[in-house]
Amino acid sequence: MASITLNNVVKTYDDGFTAVKGIDLEIADGEFVILVGPSGCGKSTLLRMIVGLEDITDGELRIDDAVVNDKAPKDRNLAMVFQNYALYPHLTVYENIAFPMRLKASDVDDEELDARVRRASGLLELDEHLDRKPANLSGGQRQRVAMGRAIVRNADAFLFDEPLSNLDAKLRGQMRTEIARLQRSLGITTVYVTHDQTEAMTLGDRVAVLRRGELQQVASPRGLYEQP
Ligand code: ADP
Ligand code: ADP
Repeated sequence: MASITLNNVVKTYDDGFTAVKGIDLEIADGEFVILVGPSGCGKSTLLRMIVGLEDITDGELRIDDAVVNDKAPKDRNLAMVFQNYALYPHLTVYENIAFPMRLKASDVDDEELDARVRRASGLLELDEHLDRKPANLSGGQRQRVAMGRAIVRNADAFLFDEPLSNLDAKLRGQMRTEIARLQRSLGITTVYVTHDQTEAMTLGDRVAVLRRGELQQVASPRGLYEQP
């Protein structure tokens, strides 16, 4: 687990458009921060810079005390969960969860990996579905597989990019509860992008509101409404 610190972080795309205009934000170890704001305000850009899928134009990004601006994604040990799940259709649930770890040159052997996959699938109630393929799962189960993949990596932080937006209202409610429970039981630093008001108001310790690439306010969910 780790803290994430952004110091005056800027992103200017190749076409000259500045999507993120100098963000300062400190996310504490174990904290759950929700990033909200209208479409196009820079939420995904910010998340992608944190995970390392997008270069930072200016400013400084730190994980704990280390500046990671120039570190590749694989050297940041952060786990991102995408909206479209990004599962491998030809692999079973078990292999989908294990796969990212198999790719990594690491000191995790098969036995340890198996233990991690089983622990994650227990937490996510996927035990009975380990041999199935993604096509035979519900949307909520697919989302859980994507989260399982993040869990087995023992990452320092979770980054969610609108993970529930493809689910129907009932499943969304269920997964919301599940993500909140999981985050608390793992105590893992989490940044969660959404434009869903209910998720913003119920999930996080703090809500950061982005607007046109700038941080408009950062407050507890309750504090957001109490501010003038
Ligand atoms: P959000 O996630 O809040 O919807 P994004 O971070 O995806 O916003 O995009 C922020 C802004 O940056 C948008 O105006 C978008 O059009 C622009 N943008 C995103 N990706 C690129 C890119 N590769 N090149 C140029 N502009 C981009
Ligand atoms: P691969 O398909 O092997 O993951 P990528 O180029 O997409 O190749 O990723 C290279 C490295 O970046 C991976 O080994 C992984 O550590 C990291 N990475 C990729 N996707 C993510 C993600 N969603 N969240 C965090 N790290 C990632």
